[in-house]
Amino acid sequence: MFYAQILTLFPEFFDSPLACSIPKRAIEANIANVECIQIRDFATDKHRSVDDNPYGGGPGMLMKPEPVVGAIREARRRDPNTHVVMLTPSGTAFTQDKALEYIKKPGITLLCGRYEGFDERIVDDVDEELSVGDYVLSGGEPAAMCVLDSMIRLLPGVLGSAESAVLDSFTEAGILDWPHYTRPEVFEGKRVPDVLLSGNHAKIELWRREQALERSLYRKKKTSSD
Ligand code: SAM
Repeated sequence: MFYAQILTLFPEFFDSPLACSIPKRAIEANIANVECIQIRDFATDKHRSVDDNPYGGGPGMLMKPEPVVGAIREARRRDPNTHVVMLTPSGTAFTQDKALEYIKKPGITLLCGRYEGFDERIVDDVDEELSVGDYVLSGGEPAAMCVLDSMIRLLPGVLGSAESAVLDSFTEAGILDWPHYTRPEVFEGKRVPDVLLSGNHAKIELWRREQALERSLYRKKKTSSD
């Protein structure tokens, strides 16, 4: 079973996303097990504080190293082979390839920051620093949920049709999905492309391939010229 641990100050954040749709199914089918560890439980002072002012001044608070490292050690105690990933905007970029790499690991731990982030001295205790994109979230929880969701849907037996994940965008390096259509045949004057109604599977496959390649090329060009 795929075992994910989440180190967070807000375990309740995950209640709803894990209780619906694909993650819910995966958990109920015992394909995935997700456990949260409350970082505050490892605070070392009597006020159970988890944040403090940054040395050198500046705005905001930082997560104190003791509770964070305490939570990481607890995750490693529960699963000695877990791969600990610290979520941070300055980490390496999360991709579909990473999701595929992570599900092959014996276990994964996602460390969620808050405030202005972590005391730098905790990095020796993690295996990897990961970013979900070039923007700043208020906390690591939405980032962890992105990573978790993209992994869960790749686990064997989770998706209804075995093909769905195989045909997703990025499964083939850099190639996006083709455009999809369902009923009605005409929506607000816009028709489903004739080829999809032709019943000619070879033609449909070719059209989809062309569309996927065109899309991948066009969207990439657009992003690099923005
Ligand atoms: N001061 C930090 C900076 O500028 O890089 C931002 C801290 S952010 C407000 C708080 C936490 O959210 C981070 O410690 C991290 O865990 C998470 N976070 C925010 N943006 C993220 C991103 N793009 N990828 C991964 N984690 C992110």
